Amino acid sequence: MHPETLAVHAGQKSDPVTGAIAAPIYLSTTFERSADGTFPSGYEYSRDDNPNRRNLETCLVALEGGAEAITFASGMAAITAVIESLPDHLPKRLVLPDDIYFGVRSLLNETDVGRRFEWEVVDMTDLEAVRAACAKPTGLVWIETPSNPLVKIVDIAAIAKLAREVGAVSAVDNTWATPLLTRPFEFGADLIVHSLTKYIGGHSDVMIGAVVSREVGLQNLALRAIQKHKGSVPSPLDCWLALRGIQSLAPRMQVHCSNAMELARFLSQHPAVSIVHYPGLPTHPGFGVASKQMKSFGGMLSFEVAGARKEAMAAAGALRLIARATSLGGTHTLIEHRASVEGPQTKAPEALLRMSIGLENALDLIADLDQALGQISNRG
Ligand SMILES: *Cc1c(COP(=O)(O)O)cnc(C)c1O
Repeated sequence: MHPETLAVHAGQKSDPVTGAIAAPIYLSTTFERSADGTFPSGYEYSRDDNPNRRNLETCLVALEGGAEAITFASGMAAITAVIESLPDHLPKRLVLPDDIYFGVRSLLNETDVGRRFEWEVVDMTDLEAVRAACAKPTGLVWIETPSNPLVKIVDIAAIAKLAREVGAVSAVDNTWATPLLTRPFEFGADLIVHSLTKYIGGHSDVMIGAVVSREVGLQNLALRAIQKHKGSVPSPLDCWLALRGIQSLAPRMQVHCSNAMELARFLSQHPAVSIVHYPGLPTHPGFGVASKQMKSFGGMLSFEVAGARKEAMAAAGALRLIARATSLGGTHTLIEHRASVEGPQTKAPEALLRMSIGLENALDLIADLDQALGQISNRG
């Protein structure tokens, strides 16, 4: 079946007891034993497994095409679990993108996880640099595409192959593309990570994450053990909200993508904008790889205003409809000055604003950007 159909049906059969089309939320933490001591429902205690979590995991596996999905309390909990579950025989060294999600840098710099691993950051769009980094003993190669905040496109097939050649695990953070636009297992990745908080939840109202394993045997037992025993599990309501979000993921992604394309075209012609980073523009360096790896070019873009930090902040400050907020993947269009969010270590240009394009009418978004950019060009 096609992904649009799986998004509505996988893990989402009507309730066997009542016939309810929308699944009940099973808040019960404990499930009854039979007289013989077994658990006839297959559920025992909610940290180990519960119906809403199992439904969500079933749907994620169907969409990504892997063997097993394991959900966590957030995207960062899922990422932590991937690093901690690396098999013992692999080198404790990670090869990471230089523009990896900022939270992963904080995980490594500020918690014990970082003290247990070495890591090297490289520009993942430079295959020779990745090959050189992988020449040293490597346990895990991390791919994030499109990347934050320059919306760079990484060639999953090429990097997964380099990882495989040195015996390392390859993991793709597929949060920005979603399984509707990119299916990393088809390009040879071993693991897929999601912050379901973003497009999959889709409404900025649930924090949850997941790891999907391509084959049984690829860390899935260790990941399941971390989920159950370290206990960073999503609640039944979180799982229910994420699964409800998935039902409308396909049509939402279509609108995110078409709105982003219209805004990218508008911004690239605006005199107050010096450059637009959107992989759907043929001038973007990742256009070729994106065309073969993505079904459409995504809902994230960034642009640099003519000027510097002051002009970027002024443009963001003049917006009326578009909200200044972090995060992405929701119904509302959001804008953010990444350099000030990430602080002094940032690689984000000072004149850059990142946008998560929402589901509004593109003309209203363009009108808001036009009036805000008009104010800074008048001042200049
Ligand atoms: C938000 C995000 C994460 C972290 O997810 P949380 O749910 O906030 O913990 C990881 N990777 C990417 C690409 C993200 O956008």
